[in-house]
Amino acid sequence: MARKLGPETREALVERVRFYRDLGMTEFYRRAVDPALVAADAADSQPTFSQEAQPIPTPELYPAPLQSAAAPVDPAHALQLIREEIGDCTRCALHKGRNKLVFGDGSPHARLMFVGEGPGADEDAQGLPFVGRAGQLLNNMIAAMGFKREEVYIANVVKCRPPGNRTPEPEEANTCSPFLFRQIEAIRPQVLVALGATAATYLLGQRQPLAGLRGRVHAFRGMQLIVTYHPAYLLRDPRQKKEAWADLQIAMRELGLKPPGRG
Ligand code: URA
Repeated sequence: MARKLGPETREALVERVRFYRDLGMTEFYRRAVDPALVAADAADSQPTFSQEAQPIPTPELYPAPLQSAAAPVDPAHALQLIREEIGDCTRCALHKGRNKLVFGDGSPHARLMFVGEGPGADEDAQGLPFVGRAGQLLNNMIAAMGFKREEVYIANVVKCRPPGNRTPEPEEANTCSPFLFRQIEAIRPQVLVALGATAATYLLGQRQPLAGLRGRVHAFRGMQLIVTYHPAYLLRDPRQKKEAWADLQIAMRELGLKPPGRG
């Protein structure tokens, strides 16, 4: 039986479909609904809208996180220790304008990790990365790849908001990025996606135009690193979304995931 979508779900769905169209995906299909699920759902009588909200199939291949013999430490515990060590940080000048330090968000067992530049106003207010407009676009990118946001991990080069959202100064980024590297080592995702030039610069340790870094796989401490555009840039120039989608498909390929079909 068709169910009505709430206004928020409908708006999110419209936004998601618009995003797919920008990527060049114009044909959608709904997965066949398992009759057993429908029966269970009806019995449950709690309306859920997850099927309507996910027109793109989830990846078929989603193995359990790899357990490395060399890293027996629980990633969640390791992240907690890093957070404790950062504490109420005053190591660089960015702390002066900070409301909330933005440590990172997502699964400590993530196979896929995104690295941005630094918190903006929304992130500074909430203490979470990518929760503003750029975050909404990143959420759509993550969903297009077949992941839920809580299945991936998201962090930034700097953990405190640069004034006026300026690019972090090298001193700020060099002071803060060791904590990012330790987060990456704790999680050891299979694939890292650098969002924009600042993330690419500090992860790869070299400043290069983004154009020369996109579209291929870089080796990063035994992990795969893909470089793509920052979502904030994509908001300013939506024509580049197709290019970003091509980069994300490289990440999917490295993860052993099939790109969504075209109908
Ligand atoms: N831009 C970033 O680079 N990081 C955030 O967390 C939000 C916006």
